[in-house]
Amino acid sequence: MSTPALKIYNTLTRTKEAFRPIDPAHVRMYVCGPTVYDYAHIGNARPLIVFDVLFRLLRHLYGAEHVTYVRNITDVDDKINARAAERGISIRELTEETNKVFQADVKALGCLEPTMQPRATEHIAQMIAIIERLIASGHAYAADGHVLFDVPSMPNYGRLSRRSLDEMIAGARVDVAPYKRGDMDFVLWKPSKENEPGWDSPWGRGRPGWHIECSAMSWAHLGETFDIHGGGIDLVFPHHENEIAQSCCAFGRDVMANYWMHNGFLQVEGEKMSKSLGNFVTIHELLHTEKFGGHRWSGPVLRLAMLMTHYRHPIDWTVARLNESRALLSKWGKLVSIGIKTHFDRDDDWWWSAPPSPILRERLLDDLDTPGSVASLSSAYENAYSSQTPEAFRLLASNLRFLGVMDQESLASWGVVEGGPLEGLPLGHIDSLISDRNAARASKNWAESDRIRDELAGMGIALKDNKDGTTTWEVKR
Ligand code: AMP
Ligand code: ZN
Repeated sequence: MSTPALKIYNTLTRTKEAFRPIDPAHVRMYVCGPTVYDYAHIGNARPLIVFDVLFRLLRHLYGAEHVTYVRNITDVDDKINARAAERGISIRELTEETNKVFQADVKALGCLEPTMQPRATEHIAQMIAIIERLIASGHAYAADGHVLFDVPSMPNYGRLSRRSLDEMIAGARVDVAPYKRGDMDFVLWKPSKENEPGWDSPWGRGRPGWHIECSAMSWAHLGETFDIHGGGIDLVFPHHENEIAQSCCAFGRDVMANYWMHNGFLQVEGEKMSKSLGNFVTIHELLHTEKFGGHRWSGPVLRLAMLMTHYRHPIDWTVARLNESRALLSKWGKLVSIGIKTHFDRDDDWWWSAPPSPILRERLLDDLDTPGSVASLSSAYENAYSSQTPEAFRLLASNLRFLGVMDQESLASWGVVEGGPLEGLPLGHIDSLISDRNAARASKNWAESDRIRDELAGMGIALKDNKDGTTTWEVKR
C-alpha cells in the first residue's frame, strides 16, 4: 500500500511532519474526552469536530476498518463528586444524564461515533496495574494513602511542553502537600472518604488522579505505543506531559504516541469565555435555544463555522461567523437539492457516496487545512451552479458529506424536501431579483422592493431579511 501524503503538525517536534502510522493496517488515535459533570461548551466542541475530520480522513486514506479512534469518558473526578452533591443526585445519575446530552450534542455536530468510548470507572484495574509498575520501577512512591509520580525520576520530563523543571515549578500552581517529595510530583492515586467514590487498591480504598485515566484507557485499547494523541492546547501541560511520563515509564518506552496534535482555543466575541462575563454558551444552548444571537443554530452551521478557521489558530466565535456559515450552507444545500431532484433518486445513495474531490483531499492532507477546504467547496458550488451536470452536483454533495456538514436530514432542514418544488427553478434569476430588490431597498424605493418580493412569492419563494443585512430565501410549502 503506498503511503498517502498526509502531513500533520506534531507538537512533540514543533514541525509539520509526514504521517507514518506504526501499522497502516491499524491506525490508532486517542483523544481526551469530556469530564461528564456539566454540559459541554462550544470550546469543547472544537476538538470533537477537528478530530472527527481527521478520523474521516484517516478512514478514507487507510480504509474504515483499519482505523481505531478512542475518545474516553471521564466519569470519576472531583468536579463530578461536587456537582452530584450540590444537586443531591447520585454520581451515576449525574454522569449518565450528562453523557446522554453529550452524545446527542456531538451527533448533532455531525461527528461520527468513535470506535470506542471507554469509561474511566471501567478501567480501574488497568490504572492500578500501571501504578504498580511505576512503583516497582522507581518512578512512583506511596505516601499517606496517596501514590505520587516522582517527576525527577524521569530525565526527559517536559519534552512535550519544552519546559525545564525550574520553569514548571515557577509557572505552575503546584499543590504543596506534606506527603510529596518534590513540588512537581503529581497524584496517581488518592484516598477516598466514605462518601466519595472509591475502589480497593494496594494503597487502601481510593480513586485515581486524572492523568492516569488516559494512560490506562489508551493502553487498554491502543497498546503501549500508538500513532496520534489529540486534545486542546491547554492539555499539553500538565495533562499530556504527565500521560507521557506515566506511560513511557511504566512500559519502558521512549514514546507514548508518535504524533501529538492540539487545537487552538476558542473565544467568544473577542473575549475569553467565562460564566462571569456572561458569554459562556453550551453546544446544547446553541442547538436548542435562542441564547446566542437570537437564533437556534443547526449542527451543520456550527460545524462549518468551526471549520472556517484552521484548527491550530484561535477562533473568535461570533454571531457574524454563524450567519456567514448559515448563508453558505443554505446556498449550497439548495443547489444540492436541485441536483438530487433533477438527476437522482433521493433514496439512491450513489450521488453522495463519491470520494472527496482531489482539491478537497489535497487541502485536508495539508495538516487539515479546513479553511482551504471550505474555499474548495465554494468552487465546487460555482462549478455545479454553472455547469448543472450530474457529476458536478455529485462532487459538491459528496464533498459536503465528507466534511460532515450535510446529510439527508440537514438537507430537509433547508426547506428542500421530498418531492420538493425546486425542480427547474431559475436560480440565476432568483439571485438577480434579490440583488435588484436589495438595490431598491438601499435607495429606499419601497414600492419596487415590494413588487419584487411579490414576484418571487408568485414563484413560491419566501424571502427572509436577516438582522445582518443579508437576504435568504426558502421555498414555501
Ligand atoms: P475539559 O472538559 O476542560 O477537559 O475540555 C475538554 C476538551 O475541550 C479538551 O480537549 C480541551 O482542551 C478542550 N477545550 C476546552 N476549552 C476550550 C476552548 N475554549 N477552546 C478550544 N478547546 C477547548
Ligand atoms: Zn487525557
